[in-house]
Amino acid sequence: MLALIRGQPMKRICALLFTLLLAACASTNAVDSAPSGLTLIHLNDTYRVGAVEDGTKGGFGRVVTVIRELEAAGKDVRILHGGDFLNPSLESQLWYGQQMIEAFNYMDALAPMYVVAGNHEFDWRTPEHLIDAVTASDFDWLGDNYRFATGDAAADEALRSAFTFQHGDKTIGIFSLTAHADHGGNDRAYVPIDKDYLGIAERVIEHFESTGVDAIIGLTHLYMRQDLELARLRARHPTFVLVAGGHDHEPEFSPLSDVSAAVIKGASNARVIWAVELEFDADGLPHITPERLALDTGVAGDPDYAVIEDRWRDRLLERFPFLEARIGTAALAMDAREEMIRTTESSWGNFIVDQMRVGFGKPAADLAFINSGTLRIDDFIEGDILFEDLGRTFGFSSFLRHTTVTGAEFKQIMQAGYRGEGGAQGYFPQVSGFRLCVDRSRKDGDRIVSLQVPADGGWSEIDDEKMYSLVVPDFLYGVGDGYEIPKDRQASLPASELKYLVLDAILAATAEGQTVGVAVDASNRRFHELREGKEPCFR
Ligand SMILES: [Zn+2]
Repeated sequence: MLALIRGQPMKRICALLFTLLLAACASTNAVDSAPSGLTLIHLNDTYRVGAVEDGTKGGFGRVVTVIRELEAAGKDVRILHGGDFLNPSLESQLWYGQQMIEAFNYMDALAPMYVVAGNHEFDWRTPEHLIDAVTASDFDWLGDNYRFATGDAAADEALRSAFTFQHGDKTIGIFSLTAHADHGGNDRAYVPIDKDYLGIAERVIEHFESTGVDAIIGLTHLYMRQDLELARLRARHPTFVLVAGGHDHEPEFSPLSDVSAAVIKGASNARVIWAVELEFDADGLPHITPERLALDTGVAGDPDYAVIEDRWRDRLLERFPFLEARIGTAALAMDAREEMIRTTESSWGNFIVDQMRVGFGKPAADLAFINSGTLRIDDFIEGDILFEDLGRTFGFSSFLRHTTVTGAEFKQIMQAGYRGEGGAQGYFPQVSGFRLCVDRSRKDGDRIVSLQVPADGGWSEIDDEKMYSLVVPDFLYGVGDGYEIPKDRQASLPASELKYLVLDAILAATAEGQTVGVAVDASNRRFHELREGKEPCFR
């Protein structure tokens, strides 16, 4: 029994004993009540206790339904979470992630839940809220390349490394890695993070192998390319079968082969999750069958979980009774889902960035851009625009800076927005005052084919020598997201909160009886991606 419950906290042991006793009683009547197989449910990057898109997509209520169905079919279910949940959100500005902890604890009571911290768990400059979150957690926090140094012994000791759990007579090991500041992580004294992902993963894998672990899984909050690198450790370690990741907000999949573990990631807010069957062959080697589950209206939300969801909604409305107040009307359905706003030009993004240019009075600044990762609503803006749409769009405060750059400097700065392999990226920019054309087949840092500014009623290439005024979020002016903005000149202090600029613009439109938003102009896109065999830049 001791070997069976190794690595489990006390309350889990009691719950487990109770479950085993029940199972023992039940098995005297039932022919086969032992769990028939192990199913891992994987989700990542969840910011809401409820569903999105008017309740039609994602949400933990649907995840709970899936878990209950698997358990009803006799499966031994474990839940993996690839990080990013305590921040940012409207609720977290009030409750510092405690709403998420309650939701996770609910799921953990149904099936044990194992969680790696993402960068957003460390958004706070000081550790009190993290301490509160960790000490209120019934689920397990896992980490092998980081530790908690919060000064609170209970929180610091709660983080588990080289974690294992039992399924029947099989031991499954999980190594867990989170992103270092060099890769989109936060840099906080209360959580030292080591960026030697491969070295640490291999050391933990070797430890698992030496202790007779039967299957090994990586639970990560890293970029996809780093997960793919980790996955290749399978070539030397055949019991390593799966990397379940986060940080990216769109589904990812790379299949299992002899030389690579499978890699899976879900879509943000549980729009897409994964169910992975883990089985063992006659030689005791692990095999997996991953299934991608799109959670939409085809999956009903669990009515018992809905009580939690409704209670947090009521509390939110109690604190912010104006949340459902209408502030304007959308001229069209503006797609601000992350898969959209993090890959291409968006009408909601355009509306927001256009307000940035007038944030320091008139005349408007020449140029402005924002990292789409600042725009957190992950939903459509359509029909009535509610105060809530604004509150959910800006999960962070976003003060702005006004500065100047030459045309040549600006083109260099913007290269950072189109680096990497593509796909939805929080650093992908929404832009105003210019248009550009990008060729992703060229090497990083040299992908902007053309960057044009308005001239004489038309457009012309930006002038390398000329000085332009530029407005960016303070976050980007600092070190954010890979954009390097020159600091050797006069710039404004952080001022002009973007949320209020946008509110002001919506109220002004409403006062004049106008609707808000303009469709992306297909004949004059601000962002054009050059593709082989497709139309050239700026037809
Ligand atoms: Zn992240």
